[in-house]
Amino acid sequence: MNRPNVSAMNDIEAIIRKMEDLRTTLGKLKDELQELPAKMGQEISDPAERLEAARYLYWMVPEVPSTVIGAGILGVNVYEMNRLLGPQRNQVQCEQCQSTIEFRSRSHLQSVVGEMRKYRKKGSVKYSEEGFTVLCDACQEALHEVWVREYEAECAERTARLEELAAMSYDEYLQTPEWLWNRQQHLELTNFRCQVCNKNRLLEVYHRSHRNRGQEGFSELIALCKKCHDLLQKESRLAKE
Ligand SMILES: [Zn+2]
Ligand SMILES: [Zn+2]
Repeated sequence: MNRPNVSAMNDIEAIIRKMEDLRTTLGKLKDELQELPAKMGQEISDPAERLEAARYLYWMVPEVPSTVIGAGILGVNVYEMNRLLGPQRNQVQCEQCQSTIEFRSRSHLQSVVGEMRKYRKKGSVKYSEEGFTVLCDACQEALHEVWVREYEAECAERTARLEELAAMSYDEYLQTPEWLWNRQQHLELTNFRCQVCNKNRLLEVYHRSHRNRGQEGFSELIALCKKCHDLLQKESRLAKE
């Protein structure tokens, strides 16, 4: 296999290297994060204050594992920490509608924060000195509905365009950006060679079927040199134009 010798390939490799570096950095940051509750335990001498600090991390900073909070700040295991913290609930405000969201357990909190992260592009977990904010179920659902509607609109637009392509004359279709793109893709996939005789001159892409105009599958197209094309057309092996 030959590595494409173009600048875009260099860019792809550079970005992958950067992503690897970021992964390494992220791993280091996670390790550092795990060290800090112990440091916090040393910085706070009053046992009641230590308990409050553990409570804060437990409810407001879901990234720090429970085991690390218990061992680092309080010097106990998770069960003992849960006993010390007592039955708890945590309330935060929805960043959009300001309604109160109640978390009854840390796993519930972590799942909501994880869910928010998945939608990072359009609304993520926001951290500030007052803690983090998330969206309530209703606001998440509303956001989701907007995305679904956007997606459906895109699909409808695509369907309408495919119908338009199907209705136009063949000559007209050959001028469309869709065909120029699909033709180019097919030439690239076939290494710019005739699929019958392997010659790389006077190539054109032809249809073997017109069923999926605009989104032709690989087997519905064929790249041919002029000679092979004329031969196949004589034998009626190609779709009528
Ligand atoms: Zn809300
Ligand atoms: Zn040929």
